[in-house]
Amino acid sequence: MAVGLTEYATGKYGWLKNRKPRPPLNQLILSIFYHVTSVRRATRALNELKRAFVDWNEVRVSHPAEVAGVLSSAPWAMEGAERLVWLLRELYEVHNRTNLDFLAELTPAQARTCLKRLSTVPRDVADEVLLLSLDVPVLPCSAAAARMSHRLGLLPDDRATVKNQRALAKAFEDDAYAPVHLFFCDYADKLCLPEEPLCERCPLGRMCVTRR
Ligand code: SF4
Repeated sequence: MAVGLTEYATGKYGWLKNRKPRPPLNQLILSIFYHVTSVRRATRALNELKRAFVDWNEVRVSHPAEVAGVLSSAPWAMEGAERLVWLLRELYEVHNRTNLDFLAELTPAQARTCLKRLSTVPRDVADEVLLLSLDVPVLPCSAAAARMSHRLGLLPDDRATVKNQRALAKAFEDDAYAPVHLFFCDYADKLCLPEEPLCERCPLGRMCVTRR
């Protein structure tokens, strides 16, 4: 199963080995949008915001409706904009700045702790920033990723525990963590739903033993 998932993920997103890492705050903002829309639309949203606003401080002092208006009229844009403005305001309150470049000076554990001090940043989102911005070989394990991994037979249960995160990481090559994570962002949250998974749209449906 891990091989099939890796093949699908690398086919869709590439191996992402030579990508230029984004600044940590840009990645964190992207992570906010990953959770409300697809990876493709989230990336476009980040670029639209960078074009429309002078910097993240300008976004911080803007009304969420104004931020959403730059993105889309779809409901995900308003949800993402509200989360983003909240995050930037909290970041400013906690760290008195609107960047996270200082994370690069810290150890991965220190950087994770620092990110988790923000109320909107759970462990899996902090790990997403470590992986995709700071190039730390860690595979994030959200509740949705744990649920999908369990259904695919990759985990013994569906809990997003540190133990399961380690077990999931062992199932994949380090090099594949970035595309595998993007796969979970696109499919675990949006298709592998807790009650009624949308199996007919799942790209791994043919390999899934629990397909409904
Ligand atoms: S086939 Fe259904 S249950 Fe299996 S991983 Fe896909 S969405 Fe989840």
